Amino acid sequence: MTSISGKTDIDWAAFATALAPVETITDTVLVKKRSRDFFWYSPLLNDSLRNCFGDLVARPKNHAEMVHTLAVAYAHDAPVVLRGGGTGNYGQAVPMDGGLIIETTGLNRVLDVGRGFVRAEAGALMADINRVLADSGQEMAMFPSTQDIATIGGFVAGGSAGIGSIANGALRDPGNLIALSALSVEAAPQTRVFNGADTLHIHHAWGLNGVITDVTLRTVPRRDWVGCMATFDSYAAAYAAGYALARDGTIAAKLITTVDARICAYFPKLAGHIRKDKHLLVSLIPQEHRDPFASLIRDAAGHVDLMMTDTERQDLGLPHVFDFSYNHTTLQVLKADRSATYQQVGCPIPPDPEAIANVRPKLGDDVWMHHEFARVGGEIVTFDLPIIWFTTPERLAEINATYTANGFAVYDAHTWNVEGGGLKADYTHLAWKKRMDPKGLLNSAKSRFWADVAHLSPDEIEALGQS
Ligand SMILES: Cc1cc2nc3c(=O)[nH]c(=O)nc-3n(C[C@H](O)[C@H](O)[C@H](O)COP(=O)(O)OP(=O)(O)OC[C@H]3O[C@@H](n4cnc5c(N)ncnc54)[C@H](O)[C@@H]3O)c2cc1C
Repeated sequence: MTSISGKTDIDWAAFATALAPVETITDTVLVKKRSRDFFWYSPLLNDSLRNCFGDLVARPKNHAEMVHTLAVAYAHDAPVVLRGGGTGNYGQAVPMDGGLIIETTGLNRVLDVGRGFVRAEAGALMADINRVLADSGQEMAMFPSTQDIATIGGFVAGGSAGIGSIANGALRDPGNLIALSALSVEAAPQTRVFNGADTLHIHHAWGLNGVITDVTLRTVPRRDWVGCMATFDSYAAAYAAGYALARDGTIAAKLITTVDARICAYFPKLAGHIRKDKHLLVSLIPQEHRDPFASLIRDAAGHVDLMMTDTERQDLGLPHVFDFSYNHTTLQVLKADRSATYQQVGCPIPPDPEAIANVRPKLGDDVWMHHEFARVGGEIVTFDLPIIWFTTPERLAEINATYTANGFAVYDAHTWNVEGGGLKADYTHLAWKKRMDPKGLLNSAKSRFWADVAHLSPDEIEALGQS
């Protein structure tokens, strides 16, 4: 069996034999499919990553099989990339060095549910966990809008926030990520348990410093949610209403999204349900907060177009309202036109409708705003995930520069290295990589700095972050 990636000289047939009884996928088309994620949102990442493939897929179905898989990879010096649902946007799950792809979805048991927490195996789907939690009157404190395909391990290793974050904070906020277990990649892989703040060493490290096997996340009491859509004459008014809703002490929203009217034109499923050519606010609120929500929208010069329980939504034949939030907003546009892309931009804190109104004309007509409201470190913040009509890398750089010059922070969505997006600014994740993955087999190409520090001890690497 030759190398599909063209980057390894491992005997993959012998490798697959050594993996038995672990299920493997050797078919070239299927291996190539599992080498992709949603990197194609970015034309720059698409250029760099579309021809990167793994060589073999392993699908362990329990902890012992995962341990065996990692031991075989270690023995063969095989590059390894973990894969959950493959819904990451930055090519996190793309095997840039070729090698073994380990699909985790066979490890999918919900292990424990208690008051305020759920513990699940890394490959459990977020939507499945939410279904199990419903029986105990709970739900996850937050989940990504990809919950039907995304795994809990992939969310912790590759995600950051989601539906629920305006109420409960980002994943990295204290109390949300309670614990995780991760396996090292050694001759005899070892489990290490990370609790509380220590989980942040592994969180959002794109699976380069340990193989997460189970995760304990915060849960919150389940509520009867109503999906809302309101429309406004100006984007500034929609954004100001979003901020008012986020601050309102009587309405417990778990989602607040605002979307430029030009983007809404790409939401054919909403045609006839929301006012045409208007700027949109999307929200999820508890059933008992319908009246104060309607008053708030009225006071903000808006119009309530939709307020629906889940049953009412299904009767109308509409998708979940969160299909128009987070990176699903971008997806709706990309379905119609692949020349669109996006960016991730942190806005001035506290949210300032005037700052948003001022920067809009400076950005130009090829940038259409979309904001997500969240609570990070207890503060209300907003992130702009604008649709950008891509022309050239230079124009994209110019757009980034305009944001930055006006006091916005760009967390670049067009980079394939984990340090590029802003969450892994020091060397702690690499010190843990050295401890958990001494041969540097786990997704190493995704770190800009790993090759420079791989020869150092974990403590020496950690010290670099303090200097
Ligand atoms: C339409 C759309 C909407 C999105 N919305 C959101 C959102 O609301 N919030 C958000 O945060 N993100 C969002 N994302 C990004 C992504 O969907 C989420 O982060 C998701 O949780 C990733 O889960 P996954 O199982 O698909 O992970 P994958 O894409 O499979 O993996 C993500 C990263 O984690 C690593 N990994 C996977 N499993 C393990 C493991 N067991 N141990 C160690 N490393 C592992 C992979 O190697 C990879 O680096 C969105 C993406 C799309 C395309």
